[in-house]
Amino acid sequence: MIVALCGGVGGAKLTFGLYRTLPPDTLCVVVNTADDLAFCGLHISPDLDTVTYTLAGVAGGEAGWGLEGDTHGALDMLGRYGVPVWFRVGDRDLATHLYRTDRLRRGDTLTAVTASLAAALGVRARILPMTDQRVATRLLVGDDWIDFQEYFVHRLHSVPVEAIRYDGIEDACPAPSVLPDIQRAEAVVIVNSNPLLSIMPILSVNGVRDALAATGAPRVAVSPMVASGAVSGPAGDLMRLVELPPTAMGVAALYAGLIDGMIIDARDEEQIPAIRGLGVEVLCTDALMRDERDRVRLATEVLRFAHSLR
Ligand code: GDP
Repeated sequence: MIVALCGGVGGAKLTFGLYRTLPPDTLCVVVNTADDLAFCGLHISPDLDTVTYTLAGVAGGEAGWGLEGDTHGALDMLGRYGVPVWFRVGDRDLATHLYRTDRLRRGDTLTAVTASLAAALGVRARILPMTDQRVATRLLVGDDWIDFQEYFVHRLHSVPVEAIRYDGIEDACPAPSVLPDIQRAEAVVIVNSNPLLSIMPILSVNGVRDALAATGAPRVAVSPMVASGAVSGPAGDLMRLVELPPTAMGVAALYAGLIDGMIIDARDEEQIPAIRGLGVEVLCTDALMRDERDRVRLATEVLRFAHSLR
């Protein structure tokens, strides 16, 4: 079993590569749920859906997430009723949220619902929410703590953030098989997801950091920073909040003690000595995933590198 820790769209690219490279039922993906939100009473888990849809081969809505070719008739109608519709939920995507919300209301866990959704879409990897409890990323913008989706989608992550917190994290227990899966993993891959918005919430769930620190399996991380900045999104900017540079080295320092190896882009070669100085081995390669071939190529290199660290 290979365990991947993953956020949303960016990280799902490498997770897709891992899924294509490995026997499908040997991949376990632990997914960030601190981006989850309520929309018109529905429980939406954007990162879980992105990973599930991506592995199922049906991802790709107009906004960069959701289902390929989806329409927005329901959202347009809600807009006519005066509901703010900046969070773009497609019509078929809505079915996922209706199904999830109904099952949760009947008392099922997010883990169980996620497994049902994945199975129904033909995904054979084990997709796990980091926790079945509610955790919510909030960001301090000016004098206000705002919700994650307000920051990321409504304000297009273009406002300066002063601080970040994960509400509910102190009480969050890992979903039932997260720790056992980490304990028996052959390797753990922290994919190239946003370190502060996607990976830190997972690492902050009670017991996850300790399980990672204790496992005998090789642990590797892929840098989301290429050529001194994030490939996309606000990850680079947010590194300021933990007083680290927006570089592969900064990410290695953030994960220090939890990783044995770091995959960085060839353009960041000069950072190798500093990363090795943290006791972290380095694989320097082309870390950009432009298409499906790149995803599979990088995943293959990541797995080979992880096995070489055993
Ligand atoms: P998102 O915010 O929904 O895209 O989800 P994630 O947190 O999973 O991923 C975001 C991160 O993926 C960003 O910080 C990007 O820098 C990173 N990223 C996106 N595309 C690539 C790529 O092709 N290669 C690498 N190494 N990182 C990437």
